[in-house]
Amino acid sequence: MKKIATHTLGCKLNFAETSDLVRKFEDAGWTPVDFNERADLYVINTCTVTSIAEKKCRNAIRQAISNNREAIIAVIGCFAQNSAKEIAAIDGVDIILGNDRKHELLRYVKRKESEGVKTSPDTDTSEPASFQLSYSRSDRTRTFFKVQDGCDYFCTYCAIPFARGRSRSASIAETVAVAKEIAATDSKEVVLTGINTGTFGQHQGETFYDLIKELDRIEGIERYRISSIEPNLLTDEIIEFVASSRAFLPHFHIPLQAGSDKVLKMMHRKYDTTFYATLLDKIKKLMPDACIAADIMAGFNGETDEEFEKVIAYVKSLPISYLHVFTFSERPNTAALRMEGKIDIHHRREHSRILHEISEEKKRQFYTSQQGKTRPVLWESDIKENMMYGFTDNYIRVRKPYDKGLVNTITDFCLTKKIEEEEIFE
Ligand code: SF4
Repeated sequence: MKKIATHTLGCKLNFAETSDLVRKFEDAGWTPVDFNERADLYVINTCTVTSIAEKKCRNAIRQAISNNREAIIAVIGCFAQNSAKEIAAIDGVDIILGNDRKHELLRYVKRKESEGVKTSPDTDTSEPASFQLSYSRSDRTRTFFKVQDGCDYFCTYCAIPFARGRSRSASIAETVAVAKEIAATDSKEVVLTGINTGTFGQHQGETFYDLIKELDRIEGIERYRISSIEPNLLTDEIIEFVASSRAFLPHFHIPLQAGSDKVLKMMHRKYDTTFYATLLDKIKKLMPDACIAADIMAGFNGETDEEFEKVIAYVKSLPISYLHVFTFSERPNTAALRMEGKIDIHHRREHSRILHEISEEKKRQFYTSQQGKTRPVLWESDIKENMMYGFTDNYIRVRKPYDKGLVNTITDFCLTKKIEEEEIFE
């Protein structure tokens, strides 16, 4: 039986798409194996979000080639879309597919098998325009469900619209049909993912708000999380709906990107710091225990030391639970390349370090605020040193002695004791 090994970099969307691909190959008789094992086909689903992500892609390609020089090596996804020429120059790569074609990989592999491998690579990086609903399961309990792809925003630092194309999605009816398929599995929690999820349906006269109302009605899915939503798209009606819904959890991931109005403007973001702070206050008023995570970028153009002082004061004032900190790196084709006010790499790293520290302090405060409270936990199947693990509705990691009967069930759990070094309650 032929073996397929995959390696996925980047966002939850890529993970959902890789899972879909693996299911297609399994249906065609292939067996999935670990990426370190000898396989007949290696698939690297790539990311282009930072230069570090691209470096990891190159390393994964080299590792696949050295694992088995006879295997078919397929490089797909965002880095393949934007840098096909560079990848084609790596000796040993057989297939390069951008985001519009990657779901057709099986067809390309069959063709390569009949043509013979290690000829020149088959490359197709047509502009991404099609949309495939897809989902992946991290374990029995949780499913990542891709409901939207692409972005029309063109923030000045971001290469994703070039790699993923314009915003698109399926209809609510089609999305609900696939959600019902997920509901028929034993997965209890669904994480809605997309590149700019809140723009779901915008080209078809439908809205993300209408989608979540429909999804909430599906029996068999007990919890939903929204993986990330732009602040300007997180409307009052969505917040109010989440607060009163059956299954949507009090957990938000709202990209902030910069804590300074001057920098937000340079980034072409669609809100200012006052709007963002007001939004968070609304959430906390309706859901005082909500977990709110925020992406923030360190060292974007214009983030001088003086400006960064404002950023520190602003971020400290927000009721966020933690930050995802990224250090700015110039991406090809983006408007930021042509901007003034570049920050040197030493200062970018220093801003990043300070933001990481603030994030840790925010997390400590959030955890302390939750100590002694009882929250519902979905228990996962992993065992480590006879302990089982899970997440509360508001995304706090917890553990307790293993009990097989609790796997994939939701039970109330009192957040009694915080284990400092591991950021976990037991
Ligand atoms: S909203 Fe901005 S940062 Fe997010 S994918 Fe679109 S262009 Fe990139």
